[in-house]
Amino acid sequence: MRLLAWFDREKRQLPWRGTSDPYAIWVSEVMLQQTTVQTVLPRFRPFLRRFPTIRALARASLDDVLAAWSGLGYYARARNLHRAANVVAARHGGRLPPGLAELRALPGVGDYMAQAIAAIAFGARTFPIDANIRRVASRLSASAAAEEILPSLVSARRPGDSVAAIFDLGQTICRPRNPSCGACPVRVSCRAFSLNAVDDYPPRPARKALRPFYRCVAAVVSDDGRVLLRRRARGVLSGMWELPGEEGDSLSSARADFRRSFRTATRRPFALVEQPIAGRIVRVEIYRASARERPGDRWMSPAEIEKSASPSLTKKIVRRISSRAPEA
Ligand code: SF4
Repeated sequence: MRLLAWFDREKRQLPWRGTSDPYAIWVSEVMLQQTTVQTVLPRFRPFLRRFPTIRALARASLDDVLAAWSGLGYYARARNLHRAANVVAARHGGRLPPGLAELRALPGVGDYMAQAIAAIAFGARTFPIDANIRRVASRLSASAAAEEILPSLVSARRPGDSVAAIFDLGQTICRPRNPSCGACPVRVSCRAFSLNAVDDYPPRPARKALRPFYRCVAAVVSDDGRVLLRRRARGVLSGMWELPGEEGDSLSSARADFRRSFRTATRRPFALVEQPIAGRIVRVEIYRASARERPGDRWMSPAEIEKSASPSLTKKIVRRISSRAPEA
């Protein structure tokens, strides 16, 4: 099998590789959760020297375990490991149980970790699926259903090495961006590669369409190029300077309110701008208009607006206004 041959040649020399001690494999899996290999490397062996067996870990005080965990972060993992060691000492005679259900029942051991320990430490033909493994499987099969191809990647003789090989492949070659397909040992059987569609897998979840919000604003510009701004009174942008206007959940109501408040040169907006803000897509129609100045309104030059407390959308609109000469 090409993948295992590559793994035998290229595998990363990591201290938890090459051991068959289920306890050491378990500790490595816990340490590697949300933590990089580089961070784990200098702490793995000292931890095992300090607590060489599950019973030794169970007997230790939590303070000692937390101290040995120092630098790895996410200390809940150390607390769970200590609690789980006590469970294993009390119920399983100090030996990690090989069954998936018993592993999953231990504090801090979820689906992924139970499957990783079962495959690597006990040779179970099971496949833990994390984002890394899902990406490789999805590309190999050109399918979103990574689970379907995974069994065919597991060697009956070396299930643990199969997991480690896919993991290494995902970390070093089949990376999320710019995978090195030219150096990939399984390129010939990679469907995404043969379809020239590597970037399409795994498929990205469809983006939820943002609900629109409408604004109609008045571009009121003085002869010397200054723009009329009004301070927003309410909402998350309260206190910021914006072009005066009206807004609403529907374009027709925003337009109707706007026409009641402003006299426009034409019925058509002279520019449109849109921008996602706070989970909505804000669509702005900009009209050349005249507006009655209100107390507190301010005239600012485009340069002053750039430095003012104005939302980025307002600055974007002002840039748009300034780049287009007023129509006669
Ligand atoms: Fe990943 Fe490219 Fe190899 Fe396919 S050929 S498994 S996309 S690195």
